[in-house]
Amino acid sequence: MEAELNNILCPNAKKCGGCRWQGVPYARQLEIKEAEVRRLMGKYCRVAPIWGMEQPLHYRNKVQAAFGTDRHGRVISGVYQSGSHRIVPTDECMLEDLTADRIIADIRRMMPKFKMTAYDERRRSGFLRHVLVRRGFATDEVMAVLVSSTPIFPAQKAFTAALLEQHPEITTLVLNINDAETSLVLGQREKVLFGRGYIEDVLCGNRFRISPRSFYQVNPVQTEKLYRAAIDFAALTGRERVLDAYCGTGTIALCAAGAAGEVAGVELNRDAVRDAIANARANGVHNCRFTCADAGAFLEEAAAEGERCDVVFMDPPRAGSDLRFLRSLLRAAPARIVYISCNPETLARDTAVLAKGGYSVRRVQPVDMFPFTEHVETVVLMSRLGR
Ligand code: SAH
Repeated sequence: MEAELNNILCPNAKKCGGCRWQGVPYARQLEIKEAEVRRLMGKYCRVAPIWGMEQPLHYRNKVQAAFGTDRHGRVISGVYQSGSHRIVPTDECMLEDLTADRIIADIRRMMPKFKMTAYDERRRSGFLRHVLVRRGFATDEVMAVLVSSTPIFPAQKAFTAALLEQHPEITTLVLNINDAETSLVLGQREKVLFGRGYIEDVLCGNRFRISPRSFYQVNPVQTEKLYRAAIDFAALTGRERVLDAYCGTGTIALCAAGAAGEVAGVELNRDAVRDAIANARANGVHNCRFTCADAGAFLEEAAAEGERCDVVFMDPPRAGSDLRFLRSLLRAAPARIVYISCNPETLARDTAVLAKGGYSVRRVQPVDMFPFTEHVETVVLMSRLGR
């Protein structure tokens, strides 16, 4: 396995820039990531050996391809060359789910037969801009999303039938309309062409609904390990009041709910909060409530009202948390804080504030969520001194 991974070279690696650690042996990648976490967090606590993947290829459950035409007018699909909008034609990527890659390549091959054109960004003409495919690794449900410049799709029926015949594994097909001059992939309007318009996946025993636009971790195999570490660190006994800050679609809150007294989730993105509420209902979880707000503002108010909170999970974006949140967290004074971070630099910065405010770091567990890239995820347990 290792020998094989040492020699992998994708012909598009340089142009694409998606996996910058091409040719770096996987074991070496893990060493570098662990050393980075140790450099930033080692002064607080021993850093546990990083959890790598047994199969660090094709781990991405979400794949998107841009569509365009080459100099000869032929339809191409692939990734944008890094830092540009030039499409590098690609049919297969070592990080992406292969089913998704095959569906995208077949859609491209089918287009001429159905007189479907690719969008031209400069001329602002043509039909298909992107294709997005998401697969539930645990459920095997597959969603394909055609992102078009217009809702007018003359070949809709015939194309849908042909695609489903070729790829019966597709459980839902959605047309997303994006007529704006934007580098965002998805537009606001959607039309379901086949199936339910969303897929479901299972994480830590809970079912989660994934719509075209909802956030869902892209590496579900490692996400499960990450959440298990987080919930293990929280050492819940069934009585605690828990806060899941930056909760997204409520995945951590729902996975922890069975072991907690009650869980409050807070999240800024309205769509994600709506998904979180639906996910709680679908899983029969009654002790979680979700609020759409800035995590700092929410906690400030809760702390001002003297609300008790025993355990806080926090999983902020790459920029980390902010002083408003961290100061309110110190005021709320939970016994344990479990910080899940996708950026060790901001993790170390925020940890310094919490350490100064009376917390000590007890566990640091790096997890490799994104093999062949420089990113590393870390779960940290802090507890209040004197506890
Ligand atoms: N815990 C979730 C999501 C983590 S991603 C999971 O594991 O799937 C970080 C989340 O923080 C995003 O959903 C983003 O919308 C949210 N976020 C960003 N800034 C925020 C803020 N100031 N207050 C609350 N949530 C915020």
